[in-house]
Amino acid sequence: MDNNYDLRKSLRKGEGIFATKAFKAREIVMRGIIKEILPKNDSHASQIGKNTFVRHEGLIPKVNHSCNPNCGIHVNETGGHDFVAIHDISVNEEITFDYAMRNYTVNFFPNCRCGSEKCRGRITGWKDLPKKIREEYKGFIAPYLLK
Ligand SMILES: [Zn+2]
Repeated sequence: MDNNYDLRKSLRKGEGIFATKAFKAREIVMRGIIKEILPKNDSHASQIGKNTFVRHEGLIPKVNHSCNPNCGIHVNETGGHDFVAIHDISVNEEITFDYAMRNYTVNFFPNCRCGSEKCRGRITGWKDLPKKIREEYKGFIAPYLLK
């Protein structure tokens, strides 16, 4: 499944992950396998619980944030975060998700450079996400955020 995406230079954000095949809405784009539990949060950590941060294997830590993402999060049977397509994704499209789908607060990336027309200007966590966007992301967020 690693052949379905690769790491490339991204226009505004250094590096990013790009689709090397087309994906249909709801299809799993990247499988999330947890590599290790982290002692604390860091810029590439995934939050899986109120105080639990992990590192995923492979290229998942390299996926960029967007305020208009094409992927959301789904917890798989291993407890890892799969990235699932919100809508159809075409070949060479950058894979993105919203950090607010996973992290309650975001401390490491103050200014957003996603360039989307829906950009919030700052990368915020779930805590600061407007109610309207919370509704839009239903079914695509880490479940601990709703507790
Ligand atoms: Zn943005």
